[in-house]
Amino acid sequence: MKQICVVGVGYVGLVTAACFADLGNRVIALDVIEEKINGLKQGKLPIYEPGLKELVDRNVQAKRLTFTTSYAESLEGTEFVFIAVGTPMGVDGEADLHYVETAARAIAENMTAPLVIINKSTVPVGTGDWVADILRRYQKTPIPFSVVSCPEFLREGAAIGDFMQPYRTVLGSLDPEAAEKVAQLHLPLRAPIVITDLRTAEMIKYASNAFLATKISFVNEIANICEALGADVKEVAIGMGYDARIGKQFLDAGVGYGGSCFPKDVKALAYMAAEKGRHPQLLYTVMDINDDRREMAVAHIKEMVGNLEGKVIGMLGLSFKPNTDDMRDAPSITIIQKLQADGASIRAFDPVAMEVAKPLLPGVEMTADPYTLAEGCDALVVVTEWNEFKQLDRARLRDLMRQPVLYDGRNIYEPDEMTRAGFIYRGVGRGYNAMSPEERARHSILPPAERSSD
Ligand code: NAD
Repeated sequence: MKQICVVGVGYVGLVTAACFADLGNRVIALDVIEEKINGLKQGKLPIYEPGLKELVDRNVQAKRLTFTTSYAESLEGTEFVFIAVGTPMGVDGEADLHYVETAARAIAENMTAPLVIINKSTVPVGTGDWVADILRRYQKTPIPFSVVSCPEFLREGAAIGDFMQPYRTVLGSLDPEAAEKVAQLHLPLRAPIVITDLRTAEMIKYASNAFLATKISFVNEIANICEALGADVKEVAIGMGYDARIGKQFLDAGVGYGGSCFPKDVKALAYMAAEKGRHPQLLYTVMDINDDRREMAVAHIKEMVGNLEGKVIGMLGLSFKPNTDDMRDAPSITIIQKLQADGASIRAFDPVAMEVAKPLLPGVEMTADPYTLAEGCDALVVVTEWNEFKQLDRARLRDLMRQPVLYDGRNIYEPDEMTRAGFIYRGVGRGYNAMSPEERARHSILPPAERSSD
């Protein structure tokens, strides 16, 4: 049984702590926010993540997982410290490292025995060396330590599965012995382990996120072209995705990426490149395309509803993606603000994010369920593809609305079916469905019944 300290009990830290505890380690999870730690001690989680409550409860009961706000307490007898604090976007797009700095300093000031310090936060290339400097500077007496980079790749909403069955574990260090020790901790996950130097490991994380964001912006670009040419992006993506060189994932056209990672990480990578005199034009374009998605959603809603003054718009979903309550850089925020600025009244329903969203969305009326939401609406807008929205009673929804307008910003519905159900429907990049039957016939495209589905 190894003793591990995890610094930060957010989406990454709490999952890391609970999962390492579940693998049989003794884990002390630490945070500077007393309210979070007190809540955790009473079984109340600070975030929503499927399965996490059960995992935390089980490991607390087994006495493998404890919580504290004290660095001194958490470092006593500890061999490994994982840093999992936030690295939000700074004013110019650079990563703001002040939480990492504070954590590194506190570790230095409180360590009494050798430590392996493992950075899980997404940090600019070179941060590992900088953390080592902080450690040296603030130690009371010199105690040996090593710094290892172990970037986290989990997805909110699927975090436990992603942690327990990762595609790979990346470890970077200038100390092969420390990297080997951290590799041993990860062996039960039975995933490939890539061991490299510190800077390369840090870069792998940014390159991976930038690539995934690029895939999303790429398919959104294709969606625009599909709309103009009368093709259907959903089926284009299916057709592309069977090619193993392309892959099926991250080919969903929609209102664009958001959340706490892609927007800030693409921006931070571009910032790092520009700082060194490079012109990362692909990254700039990826960001531009993504920003346009939110503008475009609002433009499409206006095309469907007309003048927004006095209109009531219902938002189906608020979180930046399903199965999380995370509202950081959620597309819903920008879309709602723009609709409000044009005079619309906004109502919303989200299965778990409404409590977090409320203070961020002044003037938005939160509702109890999708049907209450639909009452008297001039349009419904799907912003988050929650599973529970997929099987809503179409007729009931339609009859509750003032106008049966539905803008599907995540393509969760089929255009023909929604039109048959009496909706004025528009998805993203579904140009084929925007054509009249006569136009379809002219383009010799198969009728819907003969088209593939997935
Ligand atoms: P978060 O904001 O949810 O959690 C960070 C936690 O750290 C907070 O609870 C905060 O109180 C705590 N904290 C801040 N300073 C501290 C200090 N000095 N000592 C102790 N605790 C401190 O952040 P997150 O979403 O878990 O992200 C953490 C890091 O992991 C970021 O760098 C992020 O980019 C990266 N990451 C996040 C995800 C994700 O899906 N959220 C995925 C992969 C990587």
